[in-house]
Amino acid sequence: MAYNPNRSSDWNYGGKKWRLSRSKIDLFIECPRCFYLNNKLGTARPRGPAFTINIAVDTLFKKEFDIYRAKKESHPLMTQNSIKAIPYEHKDMDIWRENFKGLQFTHKPTGFIVSGAVDDIWQNERGELIVVDYKSTSKKGRIESLSDSSWEDQYKRQIGVYQWLLLQNNFPVSKTGYFVYANARAEEDVFDGKLKFEITVVPCDGQTEWIEPTLEKIKKCLESNNIPISGNNCEFCSYREASGKKLQKMYLDQGRTKQKRQRKDVCRESLSDTPTLF
Ligand code: SF4
Repeated sequence: MAYNPNRSSDWNYGGKKWRLSRSKIDLFIECPRCFYLNNKLGTARPRGPAFTINIAVDTLFKKEFDIYRAKKESHPLMTQNSIKAIPYEHKDMDIWRENFKGLQFTHKPTGFIVSGAVDDIWQNERGELIVVDYKSTSKKGRIESLSDSSWEDQYKRQIGVYQWLLLQNNFPVSKTGYFVYANARAEEDVFDGKLKFEITVVPCDGQTEWIEPTLEKIKKCLESNNIPISGNNCEFCSYREASGKKLQKMYLDQGRTKQKRQRKDVCRESLSDTPTLF
């Protein structure tokens, strides 16, 4: 779909389709200015190409866990990782997993409908719900913890938002969530039309304490007419600034050359208008 830099106002803050999704909350943390441009002014950053291989892996994981959900049995990955749980069954599970719907909750102090589409939910022996996210990547070594990932904080927040949404909907929730990682091995000798994945299950304690204060900050940001600060070290802004300055310089240079040319033409014309003596 072609990029539309002026989205319909229905999707902006105050519009009837606007929701505060988990990814929007993350954008606010990354850069309040980009969040404001997107949600208040209706201009979102252009999306990159879709990660189609990741989407395929997610779809297959979902299908596989759904088989065990229907059987009410633990998946072998749970057993191998000593996780006493089964995939959780609920009539709304498909809605909870759907983008633009997901788990939802109306946060009264701000009036925001907060939403987040979860990959999966398991249930442990105590009846608590476990938030699960599928991830696919390709990196060296076995993925057993998040500590070597620069995304660790973001992942804790991600699990935290889903946990918070479940808690607000009155479900008992386990503090520990899991990432089911599919790591494509690039160390194979040949490709042979196949990608081999190593699957690991990585525990992650979600963080929820930051959510309510952040919702308050988001409310203030959206209600204000002041342009918020931008995030640090953003490649998009450095690009935008540098390209803007270069184009501006070119434009000014061209303007100056044009002015000089016009001045010369005026001189030539006035000379040609001067009556000659001979
Ligand atoms: S710093 Fe980056 S994220 Fe923020 S406004 Fe600029 S482009 Fe957007």
